[in-house]
Amino acid sequence: MGKKLTIERLTNEANFLVDDSLFLLSKDEGKMGAYVEKLKILLDEVKADMPNPPSRNTGDVIGGIFSITKPNQIAVQNPTKAVNKGEHLKKGERLKSEREKALKVGKKKLRVCGFCKEKTNEHTKTTCPLNPKAKKRKATPVIDV
Ligand SMILES: [Zn+2]
Repeated sequence: MGKKLTIERLTNEANFLVDDSLFLLSKDEGKMGAYVEKLKILLDEVKADMPNPPSRNTGDVIGGIFSITKPNQIAVQNPTKAVNKGEHLKKGERLKSEREKALKVGKKKLRVCGFCKEKTNEHTKTTCPLNPKAKKRKATPVIDV
């Protein structure tokens, strides 16, 4: 148990270290490249130090998933990292209320035009463009100001 927890803690720590490094290097392609090369060297050292690598088949699959999914996670997580907790919370609330607004707009009831039966808020039976008896809408003239 204790050993497993330590491994998990260290794994988390390693994740954070790499995340932070990638975050710091994210604007410097050259340094990022150098860092990745260092990681490759580290990995080679780790491999050389592991005479009995754990089950190769599953290990490869997991490694493949990690190397594909990790950069995506970082790209998503990093922007929030720079924001402190308070701001992050405000930002979340603002985004939420904006989304709710959008939802309300989306739910706005569309009236069925009594003439052409089209569901629209653009016109009604009395202003339907297809209704010859409809009140003619004044064409909005283009005015040069
Ligand atoms: Zn209509």
